[in-house]
Amino acid sequence: MADVQLAGAWRAKVVTLFPEAFPGVLGLSLTGKALDMGLWALETIDLRPFGMGRHMNVDDTPAGGGAGMVLRADVVGAALDQAAEGTPQDRAEWPVIYLSPRGKPFDQAMAQRFSTAKGMTLLCGRFEGVDERILHHYDVEEVSLGDFVLTGGEIAATALLDATVRLIPRVLGNQTSTEEESFSDGLLEFPQFTKPAVWNGLAIPEVLQSGHHGKIADWRRAMAERLTKERRPDLWRAYCARHNRDPVEDQEQ
Ligand code: SAH
Repeated sequence: MADVQLAGAWRAKVVTLFPEAFPGVLGLSLTGKALDMGLWALETIDLRPFGMGRHMNVDDTPAGGGAGMVLRADVVGAALDQAAEGTPQDRAEWPVIYLSPRGKPFDQAMAQRFSTAKGMTLLCGRFEGVDERILHHYDVEEVSLGDFVLTGGEIAATALLDATVRLIPRVLGNQTSTEEESFSDGLLEFPQFTKPAVWNGLAIPEVLQSGHHGKIADWRRAMAERLTKERRPDLWRAYCARHNRDPVEDQEQ
């Protein structure tokens, strides 16, 4: 069963100095079950064996001086060559990503794009990062997790993979949940409630208990719009432009 699934399954290859960081949390819950079922596959490529000399050095001092160390072009190149074996050359079919604070900020649209590729290669940096020539030679796309600096690319790669893998058909049991959640229509998600009906004197909004699906849908959309307008003016403006709405109108109903 697993082998049959794997034949055409979405594949991730992660080039890292710390292969033991994977699958990490990706091995748990829904992404972990999907991995076990062969709905996607994960391969790590350890940078260390490609290192130079007796000490298998993977890094060296920056050209031009300065603090820290940089991952060597020849070492990273050899690892990327190995990762490329058996993968499509076309970057649309198989993106090659370097996790980097200089990259394009990761978002749901990117996760969508990656999830429809055949798979992808992720290069995790360490120290001051990788030799710039690697990025040009291998036509690497730089992707950032956000405006902060991590010590390595592994956490960023894990986050990117989690967001991407959950969009692969059948990874989440309930497919409609990806259509309604935050960002799917450019809006943040409406507030969620569950049992008990009253907790600490706080009741669940009446409309949600009305059983009236139309009213519930209206309420949820109004709440999603209000939250987006309040918290993310950037998303709100883009949403209004797409829906021919005036971003300063009162969206209350
Ligand atoms: N000198 C670099 C930072 C290196 S941090 C700079 O100033 O841009 C070491 C590694 O951590 C990077 O090579 C990258 O792979 C990873 N990393 C750090 N912050 C990241 C972020 N916000 N998004 C994705 N990867 C990040």
